[in-house]
Amino acid sequence: MIVTRQYAITYDAVREVYKIQSEEVPICPKCGAVMAGHGIRRRHAIDSSGTSRWFELRRWRCPACQSVHLELPDFMAPRRHYGIDVIRDVQAGGGESCPADDSTIRRWKNAKQLPGSPVPPEARPVCLNGTGAEEETT
Ligand SMILES: [Zn+2]
Repeated sequence: MIVTRQYAITYDAVREVYKIQSEEVPICPKCGAVMAGHGIRRRHAIDSSGTSRWFELRRWRCPACQSVHLELPDFMAPRRHYGIDVIRDVQAGGGESCPADDSTIRRWKNAKQLPGSPVPPEARPVCLNGTGAEEETT
């Protein structure tokens, strides 16, 4: 997954879907190569009013390491259907009129961060082998 911050949104009234057109060069987060288009994926997002909208997101494939990445606009939370501003509002103590279920709101409040966010250094697992490198898990 890569996050784009510079993009245009156009609405396709026939297909009732919003298209996200990034203005950034898609760089592979694994190896740094420039990626090529690899189709689209439809995904919906729910805003603070509870309105659900469908979006077409670009998928990119890295020619060097063959990994495939979904390009998310910065208003979408990874692996969440609610917009990132809705989740952050709840986590900041707001969200009294949030359209999400109570159990979902409780889960967001208990989460230390949004899924897919960079892990802050103090929350990273402690390395016990003394090398400073994380141990590989298989
Ligand atoms: Zn790559």
